[in-house]
Amino acid sequence: MPKLHALCCGRLRFDRSIFFPDKSPGVDMTVPVPSFLVMHPKGNLLFDTGVHCLAASEPEQRLGERTAGLFKLVGAADEVLPAQLAKLGLKTNDIHTVVNSHLHFDHCGCNALFPDVPILVQKTELDAARGPKSHAHAQSWDLPLDYRPIDGEHDVFGDGSVLLFPTPGHTPGHQSMQVRVSRDQAFVATADACYTQEHMDGELLSGRVWDPKQMIDSMRQLRRLGERSDTHLIFGHDAAQWAALPTGSTSLG
Ligand SMILES: [Zn+2]
Ligand SMILES: [Zn+2]
Repeated sequence: MPKLHALCCGRLRFDRSIFFPDKSPGVDMTVPVPSFLVMHPKGNLLFDTGVHCLAASEPEQRLGERTAGLFKLVGAADEVLPAQLAKLGLKTNDIHTVVNSHLHFDHCGCNALFPDVPILVQKTELDAARGPKSHAHAQSWDLPLDYRPIDGEHDVFGDGSVLLFPTPGHTPGHQSMQVRVSRDQAFVATADACYTQEHMDGELLSGRVWDPKQMIDSMRQLRRLGERSDTHLIFGHDAAQWAALPTGSTSLG
């Protein structure tokens, strides 16, 4: 059975109306930027690569003027991907597979650190990112990297322990990951298919939605998974849930 570690790749501060369009603007909120390390007997997998390591010190160069104007990267000095891996005794070249849930700047920001590693992304997401109305953050993902398009549900290690499955709506080819850490315990990293418990409870859509109907369908699919007695959902950017979660070198489960 694999081990699953939740890593914090910084925190984003922004106006809460970006997450909750029905709330009046003018109040900031701060959320974690998660990455997940799966240590499987067949190799180490990273689900999402966070924000670019230099985004705090060089926001406009790394994120672009528009994104840097909306989101400020804050957080402790060790809340960057290489430092998080180092706490587990790992370097970037100890990672054998990378997965991007989707191609927004806070989920593929450190892809450049993995030039020789297969990067699994849903084909729909890659096609849309390469299309004329791209939703993706080109500076982070559009690099000479080893992208491997996958089409639908994907059993990464062939033993059912790590499943990628499409949860579209937030973006065209968004995917989430289920990791079974023991016979009676599994975790699902929803990524941005659902930002927080509050979004799930109220079926709330954020300001960044590619297809609202698909996003609601994906949230309902995730809710059904979370209703299983052995399955825990980990939301994409939920500060309250994150604060209660074992992180870093302590594995989940
Ligand atoms: Zn996103
Ligand atoms: Zn995000």
